[in-house]
Amino acid sequence: MLIVKKFGGTSVGNRDRIFNVANRCIEDYKNGNDVVVVLSAMGKYTDVLIDMAKEINPNPPKREMDMILTTGEQQSVALMAMAMASMGVPAVSLNAYQVAMHTTSTYSNARVKRIDTERIRAELEQHKIVIVTGFQGVNKFDDYTTLGRGGSDTTAVALAAALHADKCEIYTDVDGVYTADPRKVPDARKLKNVTYDEMLELATLGAGVLHNRSVELAKKYGVRLVVRSSLNTNEGTVVREGSKMEKMIVSGVAADPDAARVAVIGLKDEPGIAFKLFNALAQQGINIDMILQSIGRHGKKDISFTCTDDDADLAKQIIDDLMEFEEIDVDKGVSKVSIVGAGMQTHPGVAAKMFEALFDANINIRMISTSEIRVTVLINEKNTDRAINAIHEKFNLGEE
Ligand code: ASP
Ligand code: MG
Repeated sequence: MLIVKKFGGTSVGNRDRIFNVANRCIEDYKNGNDVVVVLSAMGKYTDVLIDMAKEINPNPPKREMDMILTTGEQQSVALMAMAMASMGVPAVSLNAYQVAMHTTSTYSNARVKRIDTERIRAELEQHKIVIVTGFQGVNKFDDYTTLGRGGSDTTAVALAAALHADKCEIYTDVDGVYTADPRKVPDARKLKNVTYDEMLELATLGAGVLHNRSVELAKKYGVRLVVRSSLNTNEGTVVREGSKMEKMIVSGVAADPDAARVAVIGLKDEPGIAFKLFNALAQQGINIDMILQSIGRHGKKDISFTCTDDDADLAKQIIDDLMEFEEIDVDKGVSKVSIVGAGMQTHPGVAAKMFEALFDANINIRMISTSEIRVTVLINEKNTDRAINAIHEKFNLGEE
């Protein structure tokens, strides 16, 4: 079997953890498998490198930023190969350049385009464990790029797809994917399975376990993922295509406190207003999430939307400079709470049940948005933990 194993920063955070990971990889290797390991930078080392850069230049050139960030992963793969060598196991570390992991040109947020597999195959044929840097690539200018924070997951999935791996295991510091954040919801339960679509929604909603682009890629290439802990041998969660029968109506509830609501009151009620507003925001790279437009009255209408806390002030300023309206209000004290479940496409009443849970807890809903397999509400941030607990309870998510 060919197995791709990815370990996150905490899993390789110190000497003992590095040897722990080495042991787990060697076990698979000794059982006769080909093993490709993808690593993140040790602990919070990527943050350390960012701070280092900002001390020299608060606005560093993006190319140079990627140049420094790629050293984090290079450090961990080299140390891992040394650890394995000290245990008498042949291993080789490779960075994105040596593999040739080709990406788009965009520094700090590149996408994987193509991976050359010859070098990795050649090393595997010589019975080596191959340890590859996560998070990085090389663009058409032969410069290093990075895939965005948390991007090592995407490296692992891309490699698994390119190598037609039999297994892709993502090791992290939690046991798998839960029905809710176990730190916030005491009776949260680990899920045995989630579908790609559910995982994609959960990852995007800030469940934090997987880089969302890794799930997109896994879905596209049918790479079955296992998310599990590097610190114990518990089974973990399988991410795969769902079969119709076993689709959960609701699989989990997620919260994202990093949301702000911008309300623009008394805009002109005429064609092109929404276009003008959102086009200007898009051009400044501001990502918009929920959008609500009121019905027109006396030639006026209101538009509210959400964006990240960080973007809210800039959004307000752009709109201030751009259009005519009566009033604009920014509220950063809001959070998004969502339920996700592949089965809700075919079951009526799911949203109503969620709203009932919030009503029972006396929590006001400020905005609502939905997709086929998700319902999201915007609420006051201080109510977040109460809301996810109330919803978790209402849907009996703690019980199998
Ligand atoms: N080291 C990178 C980060 O901290 C990539 C990763 O860990 O996946 O974002
Ligand atoms: Mg991660």
